[in-house]
Amino acid sequence: MDFLTLFGIYVAVVLTCIFLVCKYSGQQHNPFTTLLSYVTKVVAPVTPQWLQRFSRWIFHRLFHQRSNFFIYLHLFLEGAVYAEFTYEVFGFCREMDTTLTSLSVPYVLLVIKTFFFYLCINTDPGTVTQKKVSSLIHVYPYDRRLFHPGVSCETCRLVKPARSKHCRLCNRCVQRFDHHCVWVNNCVGAGNTRYFLLYLLSVCAMALDVALLTGDMLLHAVLRSGLLRASYMDAYGQQQPTGPLFVVQHLFMTFPRIVFMLGFVIFVFFLLAGYTLFHSFLAVVNQTSNEWYKSRGFVCRHCHPAPGADDLCGPVPDHSKRFYYSRGLLGNLREIFFPPQAPQKKAN
Ligand SMILES: [Zn+2]
Ligand SMILES: [Zn+2]
Repeated sequence: MDFLTLFGIYVAVVLTCIFLVCKYSGQQHNPFTTLLSYVTKVVAPVTPQWLQRFSRWIFHRLFHQRSNFFIYLHLFLEGAVYAEFTYEVFGFCREMDTTLTSLSVPYVLLVIKTFFFYLCINTDPGTVTQKKVSSLIHVYPYDRRLFHPGVSCETCRLVKPARSKHCRLCNRCVQRFDHHCVWVNNCVGAGNTRYFLLYLLSVCAMALDVALLTGDMLLHAVLRSGLLRASYMDAYGQQQPTGPLFVVQHLFMTFPRIVFMLGFVIFVFFLLAGYTLFHSFLAVVNQTSNEWYKSRGFVCRHCHPAPGADDLCGPVPDHSKRFYYSRGLLGNLREIFFPPQAPQKKAN
């Protein structure tokens, strides 16, 4: 198998992964979990018991318990990219007379990203406590669709405020629960959604800037080498002009670490750009991803009562409003950046 076939397979696999992760991320049952359970069943008879127990333990530790593993992995990958950028790309860019101001932008973005990353990890997302629950239930009205009054959390034994959800990993109910993010080892809720959005935006900006500077450096290297005007002798002894694939192969051979780093950063950028757009859309329409996923498969029991079901109590929900909690663009953004507080009781 020649180099270009391998490269084609590499690109196809990366693009397929991006597509599948974007399409199925956040769903409990998806082709990945189906494939994983199938593979587990197939290999179980030939896998030693201790290895099965160990893999179950690892899986449980990583995805069903709070763990700092993904924070360390995040820092490691980021450190590797910046080490490569500083060690090789920075020097090449300086030789090409790229200004120090342009080259300092990725480092400034790194500081900004680290600041929001820290806030995502260390800010209380909006834990519902015994002390706060009586005021939190007045922050949002119950839509009587996804959230109904008088429902208690079976674990916390507290009444669930509208838009809250129990996080199994953190073992607490969280106000305006969005999701539990393993990368920051914290829930994303009313208290830190703003930091999470700014964190996503800064990671995207960081990846894009590193990719642009690295791509610019490789482009200059190609132009300087005169490869685009060169030719080579094919297997039949004919002179052939070098095409784009030849240039890619040359770059892979000459700057393997830089090309690998660029491929990884572009992969991260496209993956996160889609995710950031999705979360920006949710912020604009004032919906959490928890509500988004639940709404998609929602069947209203008022409009489609189950056969033999008793009359349902409570007023009929207003289905004309798809985004029940939306207060207009500015109102929704204000709610993200200045989360509504529980109404204060008037002192008489
Ligand atoms: Zn709970
Ligand atoms: Zn959580």
